[in-house]
Amino acid sequence: MKREDVLRKGPYPLLIDGKEVPSLSGKTFTSIDPSTGRALAEVHEAGPEDVDLAVGAACKAFESAWRSTLPRERSKKLMKLADLLAARVEALSWIECYDAGKPIAASRAWLSGGPGTLEYYAGCLLGLSGETLDVSDKTLMDFTLREPLGVCGLIVPWNFPLSIALLKMAPALAAGNCVVIKPSEVTPLSTVELGALVAEAGFPPGVINIVNGPGDPVGSALVRDPRVAKISFTGGTESGKRIFREAADTVKRLTLELGGKSASLVFADADLDKAVAVAYTDIVRNSGQVCGACTRLLLEESVADAFLDKLEAKLRAVKIGPPEDPATEMGPLVSSAQAAKVRKYLQIGKAEGATPKAYVDLAGRSDTASDAFLPPMLFHGATNAMRVAREEIFGPVLTVMRFRTEAEAVAIANDTRYGLAACVFTRDATRAMRMVRAISAGTVCVNTGVRSSVDAPFGGFRESGIGKERGKEALLDDTQLKNVRYGL
Ligand code: NAD
Repeated sequence: MKREDVLRKGPYPLLIDGKEVPSLSGKTFTSIDPSTGRALAEVHEAGPEDVDLAVGAACKAFESAWRSTLPRERSKKLMKLADLLAARVEALSWIECYDAGKPIAASRAWLSGGPGTLEYYAGCLLGLSGETLDVSDKTLMDFTLREPLGVCGLIVPWNFPLSIALLKMAPALAAGNCVVIKPSEVTPLSTVELGALVAEAGFPPGVINIVNGPGDPVGSALVRDPRVAKISFTGGTESGKRIFREAADTVKRLTLELGGKSASLVFADADLDKAVAVAYTDIVRNSGQVCGACTRLLLEESVADAFLDKLEAKLRAVKIGPPEDPATEMGPLVSSAQAAKVRKYLQIGKAEGATPKAYVDLAGRSDTASDAFLPPMLFHGATNAMRVAREEIFGPVLTVMRFRTEAEAVAIANDTRYGLAACVFTRDATRAMRMVRAISAGTVCVNTGVRSSVDAPFGGFRESGIGKERGKEALLDDTQLKNVRYGL
């Protein structure tokens, strides 16, 4: 589909109290197509005054309608929204193709999972309940109630814009909360289109609100608002720390899904082709802009050269090109600014003594002329003390290191302030289980890449975050438990 077929003509609105509205200031910002560097759309930019209205609408909807909506009704509305979304997946995939530079084939694959997110929580919420407690006091009947929190602020990054918005919104609504969504200012368009479906799905006005604009002041206004009971944030660790501090003033509940520097441990007895395929995916998928990608590649010395020969051959053949080409595997990064950040790390790595190597020459190509395009790259000769092994780069680059013993591999894998995920490749099941226990990360994958799904919890240890997204844990995290003690 062409740009003009899927994009709105006028500025993209906010969604407040069931209505698409301009920002009160009338201010707009421009969303850029990273594959061309040209303006794609204008978007109304909220200010704290718009956030105030959105939170007010959400509070009103919570008190007057949503908190007392029967579970079955909430479930039906989520299912209806899933159906409406399914009918729009193709158009939304093209919107994210242009707004985020996602190759269209991959964009379709990711967004086709969106309806399933809503369906999963539509089912899950029907099993939500408290429990009866057999306390050691026969003068009491004691039980718990699972209640919604109230209004949840959902702050979303740019790497999977609509998918992550849905992963936050679905459990929050399922638990009986109302939401104010703050999409990334870099990729706001698909979430506005989600907002256009919610009235038809039967959600009362104000249950879902959307405010576009920068983290500060728009996201920050949500974090500071005392009427917002919880912030669910996905983004960089430094932004997450700031939100953590600001949320302390009103003792908000928090789910923080932050950065990562995950390790993939490849042992000599592994199925090398499988491990190579995963490393390749970690570089190429979404141009490496994936929080759970294993960006530290730890290879057992005896197979390191053979592994790298295979990986490098694949990387030389990757199809980089315009995201709208169905054959493209790797498009641009999300913005020139993100590509510039990655280029800066190439200099940092070189200055530290590592050697960055690129596997595709983009020079002189007219179809990848935008400076948001980068080739796939590996850092060779790195140590785990270097910044390129310690800091999240968020681009198509892995840092390669070698190890001789299992203990050395574990020590390197765990020597990080992050703890989002890890992969282990070995044919020795006993060793695999030892690694599962020894590695300190929220998700550990054996003989497969880090692939998350809506029905399994995902969330990091240490500075990778707090709480879980996905799975029934996300639904429970969006509730509060009330204990009732009934005197007999
Ligand atoms: P970011 O932190 O710059 O921004 C994320 C969102 O937070 C945006 O909507 C932004 O406007 C908002 N924001 C920024 N500062 C804020 C503040 N002070 N108050 C309130 N809101 C604020 O992150 P990004 O560059 O958009 O996304 C990339 C990052 O997201 C990477 O670090 C990646 O690892 C992380 N990420 C983590 C997961 C996970 O599940 N752990 C998933 C995807 C992305």
